[in-house]
Amino acid sequence: MWNKLVKVVDHIKCNFISLNIISNTQYKKSFKTLVQLSYNNPSVFVLHFKHIFKNENYSEHPSFKTRRRDGIFMVDEDLFKLSFKKILDSPILLYYKAFFFEQFCRTLNSKNKLFKFGLANESNCLKCNVVATSEHCLFECKFPSYASSAIAKFLDMRYNDSAPDFIFLKESFFLCNTYYEQFSNSEYTQLTLLILVIKDKCIKIANDPCIERWSKNNFFSQLILITQFSIKLLDNINFVSEFLDDFLNYILKYQDNISYFD
Ligand SMILES: [Zn+2]
Repeated sequence: MWNKLVKVVDHIKCNFISLNIISNTQYKKSFKTLVQLSYNNPSVFVLHFKHIFKNENYSEHPSFKTRRRDGIFMVDEDLFKLSFKKILDSPILLYYKAFFFEQFCRTLNSKNKLFKFGLANESNCLKCNVVATSEHCLFECKFPSYASSAIAKFLDMRYNDSAPDFIFLKESFFLCNTYYEQFSNSEYTQLTLLILVIKDKCIKIANDPCIERWSKNNFFSQLILITQFSIKLLDNINFVSEFLDDFLNYILKYQDNISYFD
């Protein structure tokens, strides 16, 4: 009976297509344990455990949680990571990268924080008479609001034929320095530098009594000065400044109508 069965199998096996997708060596290899494989190639073992270790230890940065708790705007974590990596890879001065990192970690010296440490006389913004939190100083106060509107209108003019889009995304591209796919890497570097220089100035003037006297004329002239300063910073590292040159020419067109950016 057995011999008969072997004969039948021998007879029909030539009619089947052989499965040679996996070689004999690969087949044998698949039965080896990772430990056995790592004798000849230690990186196999290391890579495998690196992945396990990385996945087990991943947890989101605490600032995401505290922002949710305090009801503070934050972009999607993946989008933030993409933008953050691009900023770190850019040739922007380390000082401004560190500033952005501090903003992300919520350790910037806002006026409110200085007051709580006993280093400022009051916690309120001298211009708006509300608590001067980091978000207020960086985004909600009069000057950052003016500057972010000017940049949003310029971005809509440049990328959307002046149709309103970026004007509704100010918190995202200005407060969180988010990357949008319309930007080339060079444009994003220039835009990020400009926004970080503006925000650095905002934190500094929040503690300066002069902010009380600032009018739209000051906002407009400060925006020009900061843009020129950013262009100079880019020139110093031999980086193109075409995007910021265009922005400067754009805002200068409105020198007789400075309320346009309100
Ligand atoms: Zn204010």
